[in-house]
This record gives sequence, structure tokens and C-alpha cells, in this order.
Amino acid sequence: MDEKVNIVFLGPPGAGKGTQAAGISRRFAICHISTGNLFRQAVEAQTPLGRQVKAYMEAGALVPDELVIQLVKDHIQSKRCKRGFLLDGFPRTVSQAQGLEAILRQQGDCLRWVIYFDIQEEDLVQRLLHRRVCSNVSCQQTYNLRTFPPQQEGKCDRCHSPLIRRKDDNRESISTRFRDFEKKTQPLLDYYRKKGILVQIPANRPAKEVEERIVRLLENDNF
Ligand code: AMP
Repeated sequence: MDEKVNIVFLGPPGAGKGTQAAGISRRFAICHISTGNLFRQAVEAQTPLGRQVKAYMEAGALVPDELVIQLVKDHIQSKRCKRGFLLDGFPRTVSQAQGLEAILRQQGDCLRWVIYFDIQEEDLVQRLLHRRVCSNVSCQQTYNLRTFPPQQEGKCDRCHSPLIRRKDDNRESISTRFRDFEKKTQPLLDYYRKKGILVQIPANRPAKEVEERIVRLLENDNF
């Protein structure tokens, strides 16, 4: 893979996007942009952005489009992304997708694949309740106690910080986030299908299997 590749991971919360994004971005040396992780870092550091988004995040509500688009723009245009990027958790609305397109058009760039993590709601609730994340905000590696456990109980494989449960991984926030996904994010499937860049993968399979499918897709693409 010699040329630049820009990928989007699309899917409901808990579909495994974050887990896969960490490994895939390392393997293909592209930058991983997780808007959720960036917002959590901003909240933790109490930056002006963090103060603006805190309440939305705690309620499991979407942050206003303008704020997210600006954040993504700053990252995509950074040197770190010169080999390409993997967007995880963005876009989540048609207006965000249009914003992304405008940014890419400006720099003569485009998306290669939008990978949709397909999974049923029943599977998601269980996954989110079993999800643990690294408490170190500059790491935030995601685990699942059942499908992708850490090597050492309660500790991150990468930085050995304690694992915690995300504040918004409670039944009420999970339900708000899933409804938002259905209403605001699902229309993006058609949007990207029409552009011919949508690839659907069954996300209820073990993490290793999902990873192999993504790797095969990217490796056979002759960038
Ligand atoms: P995530 O880690 O992707 O589940 O995101 C956690 C929270 O960050 C979401 O529930 C939203 O409050 C906010 N967030 C992350 N990405 C976006 C986005 N693309 N649009 C709006 N809000 C977002």
C-alpha cells in the first residue's frame, strides 16, 4: 500500500469500530481519528472545546455538526495524516458527510472506502455493557470482556493503565445513542452506497475475524 488511503468506519456504538481502528491504523501506518476519543481528551483537559461538549457527551447526545467538522478538519490537514486517515465515529450525519467531502475536495483528495460494521441492536447492548476502555486518555484502547479481553485482567495491553467503563455505557445513554444512529447516521449508508464506496462487514464475528476481512479488503486494493 504505497499511496494515500482515506477510510471511514461507520456503525452503531459498540460495533467494534474503535477496537479495529487501533490495529488497522497501526498496520497500514495511517492516522486514526476518533472524534469520541478527541472529545474525551478535551473534556479531561478542560479545554474550551471540552467545556462546550461535556454535557452532550454525558447525555449520549450528538455534539453539534460545526464543532465536529472543525475538529476533523484540523486533524485531516495535519502532517500526521499525510499517508491517509481512518475516521472512527465520523461522519455521523449527512451534514457531517458533506462537510468532510468539502474538506477533501479542497485538498484534491477523496475517500477510498466506507466500512459499515453491521450488527443488531440486541448484540450491541451486551457488547457495550462488557466494554472496557483504557483510563489513560492519550491511549483509550478499547476491550471487550467477552470478545476481546486484555491479556492481564483490568490492565491495558498497550500502556498498562487500569481499564474503566465509559460513563455513557449505561442503558439510558446506550438507547439514546442507538436511536440517534438509526435516525441520523443510517441515512449515510445510502449516501455512500450510491457513491460506490460502501463495504458492509458482519460485525458480530470475533474481533480477529473482522480484522482479517478488513485487512484483506485493504491489501487487495492495490493502492
Ligand atoms: P464515541 O466514542 O464515538 O461513541 O463518541 C462519544 C460521544 O462523543 C458521542 O456520544 C457524542 O456525544 C460525541 N461524538 C463523537 N463523534 C461525534 C460526531 N461525529 N458527531 C457528533 N457527536 C460526536
